[in-house]
Amino acid sequence: GVVLDKVAFSYGEAEMLFDVAVPQGRITAIMGPSGSGKSTLLNLVAGFERPSSGRILIGGADVTGAPPARRPVSMVFQENNMFAHLSVADNVGLGRSPALRLDASDRAAVAEALRRTGLAGKDKRLPRELSGGERQRVALARVLVRDRPVLLLDEPFASLGPALRDEMLDLVADLQQERGMTVLFVTHQPEDARRVGQAMVFIEDGAVSASGAMDDFFSNNAPEAFQRYIGGQA
Ligand code: ATP
Ligand code: MG
Repeated sequence: GVVLDKVAFSYGEAEMLFDVAVPQGRITAIMGPSGSGKSTLLNLVAGFERPSSGRILIGGADVTGAPPARRPVSMVFQENNMFAHLSVADNVGLGRSPALRLDASDRAAVAEALRRTGLAGKDKRLPRELSGGERQRVALARVLVRDRPVLLLDEPFASLGPALRDEMLDLVADLQQERGMTVLFVTHQPEDARRVGQAMVFIEDGAVSASGAMDDFFSNNAPEAFQRYIGGQA
């Protein structure tokens, strides 16, 4: 899985300390108030930020000092996932080859990813000719062709309506099952977490406040802080 072993990080005043193990081959939801550190946690795992102390392990290997490209990880952001001047097919192809040198098997992988994400027939379009939901599909297609064992999703479907969101969540769940990926999924929606997640990490004030099996978070013994958070949101 993914282990953050006493990982300390700060943006000036905002000090964070993450100590948690995320299970391998499962979908783990990351929830918590705005500003609590969810995106920072993903950025640390992806290598976009470096801890001031502590270690990050992925599949047992210490990646604390490794640059993003050397980590077995890919990430989908909330927005701005596409290059404006490149077609849908090229944006997806970038996941396969950063210089877009694609052989026949790369092109087959791109076509398959476009089909799975419902983008077949839109491969020649530019980002500005797509809806917000379609752009997020492109981002998902790109990580599919990358085929990394760890997938980081930072509220990728937050801007979509509920029906489309459910469709995308179910697609992520199907892909996770097929490939056995370890998925860290940041969301503000308890129902989304519950729909696809098997485990939960609940963050408050830059630290893990509770973690464990998803079912426990939606039982009578759910951690109090989590219940308060959900109650306050409703
Ligand atoms: P949200 O739900 O709003 O996305 P989050 O849980 O993802 O919030 P983070 O983005 O991880 O929160 O931010 C954690 C803390 O770090 C916050 O106090 C935030 O203001 C601060 N922070 C985040 N990014 C930066 C940055 N680039 N420079 C300075 N401070 C930052
Ligand atoms: Mg965030």
